[in-house]
Amino acid sequence: MSEKKRPMTNAFGAPVGGDLNSMTAGPRGPVLMQDAHLLEKLGHFDRERIPERVVHAKGAGAYGYFEVTADVTKWTKAKFLSEVGKKTDVFARFSTVGGEKGSADAARDPRGFAVKFYTEEGNYDMTGNNTPVFFIRDPLKFPDFIHTQKRNPATNLPDPDMFWDFLSLTPESAHQVTVLFSDRGTPATYRHMNGYSSHTYKWYNAQGDYVWVQYHLKTGQGIRNLTRQEAEALKGKDPDHATRDLYNAIEAGEFPSWTLEMQILTPEQAKDFKWDIFDITKVWPHAEVPPVTVGKLVLDRNPVNYFAEVEQAAFSPGNLVPGIAISPDKMLQARVFSYHDTHLHRLGPNYHLIPVNQAKNAPELNYQRDGSMRVDHGGGGGPNYWPNSMGGPAPDPSAQEPPFPLEGEAGRHEYAFDNDDFVQPGNLYRKVMDGQAREHLVGNIVEHLGGAAKRIQERQAAIFYKCDVDYGTKVAQGLGLDLERVKTLAAMSKDQRAEATS
Ligand code: NDP
Repeated sequence: MSEKKRPMTNAFGAPVGGDLNSMTAGPRGPVLMQDAHLLEKLGHFDRERIPERVVHAKGAGAYGYFEVTADVTKWTKAKFLSEVGKKTDVFARFSTVGGEKGSADAARDPRGFAVKFYTEEGNYDMTGNNTPVFFIRDPLKFPDFIHTQKRNPATNLPDPDMFWDFLSLTPESAHQVTVLFSDRGTPATYRHMNGYSSHTYKWYNAQGDYVWVQYHLKTGQGIRNLTRQEAEALKGKDPDHATRDLYNAIEAGEFPSWTLEMQILTPEQAKDFKWDIFDITKVWPHAEVPPVTVGKLVLDRNPVNYFAEVEQAAFSPGNLVPGIAISPDKMLQARVFSYHDTHLHRLGPNYHLIPVNQAKNAPELNYQRDGSMRVDHGGGGGPNYWPNSMGGPAPDPSAQEPPFPLEGEAGRHEYAFDNDDFVQPGNLYRKVMDGQAREHLVGNIVEHLGGAAKRIQERQAAIFYKCDVDYGTKVAQGLGLDLERVKTLAAMSKDQRAEATS
């Protein structure tokens, strides 16, 4: 053996004598059961795959840091945000949502934008998307919604009928659908898109005063999108283009960065605010709530092993630190359960010990013990119960979120806020998009919606018409629909429209 080569071993460190020929009875076989090396190798291979994420399966990630650039201590007591110039290690993962682990990066889909901050008070996860809004505002609809974005149970094919049937029966999706079918639905790379918390969170300071906040991570590389035609070509030519782009940019020393801007509302401002601030289908208009720049995110180091560090990375909106809390947003409340639950299923009860998920800058000190793959000292010989008088770790009341009032009648309440689901998508179409952006939006919709049944096309075109007359008219014309029929449907209530198109 050359001096440079280290000896190969089995999983338990014993030397392996040969790794090309199975142990057989004579040169022509059969293979012997006693070939423990072969059995170990095949047994491990058979178990190489873990369940892929049910959403956000395809992704890429990198390490870096977050730096505070403005004093935010009047709003939050989070220690990692306590001083201008303070830096915190991060790991970020970008992803598509609906596709499988091998699907194309150029898919029309929201992009996940998750950042794990390894703070001295434990890990804080910001689990955002590249869009400021979402399709639905009630978590009970989430599994149904995702089913419609995936494959038909009979054909195993993507299905425009499923896709648009659900969306057209769920008019609160119009805002996100408009963003998704604009060219922002196909970002050029992960580096050339923004990240948004989309949800409202609570920040509270050392005195216990709180504000409502939304996070905007603005790309330092500038927004760049693909047209439908470019995205289609790229899906075939290089299905991993965004994964490659992120890795290569970092290897080349072109470290991508984002500026963190916060929108902040005091409880008093929130009371009279025009929009329901806990409705994730709405934004806070910039003119009414101007964003404040507070920090900078830089990614400057690639993972060494994709499986260990990206596939096993596990984020949860429930990973919070003192000074940051969740809001009553129903989708956010359900994500606090669902993300952790998914990781328990995919990675096991000790997923927090996987190095990328470990609280690197704060020791884990509690009485949770044992479980599958508890691979560290497991709490050693210390006490495994609380309360104890053995000097074990004790809760710190100052780490609690200040108490807050809650009231209301328990029930499955229909959404009843006096706030129109069609105004903001209409504003996006009318005020934000230029002629070319509108043309691309309508073209992207017509091509996709054109694959659905005519009655579903009519129902969805009516929703676009309700957002903006020109928008709905152009979609209807592009699909060759009867405009009068679309107008009639647009004038109906949601239930009447569903009835008239069923
Ligand atoms: P502004 O004119 O102040 O903001 C419009 C924002 O729209 C821009 O700042 C940009 O966000 C974003 N934008 C531009 N093109 C697109 C696109 N194709 N798809 C999605 N977003 C785009 O107006 P308002 O704040 O009054 O918002 C008007 C509409 O803009 C909203 O209804 C919403 O649809 C959209 N928007 C608003 C955001 C907000 O937080 N207020 C955030 C993003 C979109 P950015 O600067 O983040 O790149």
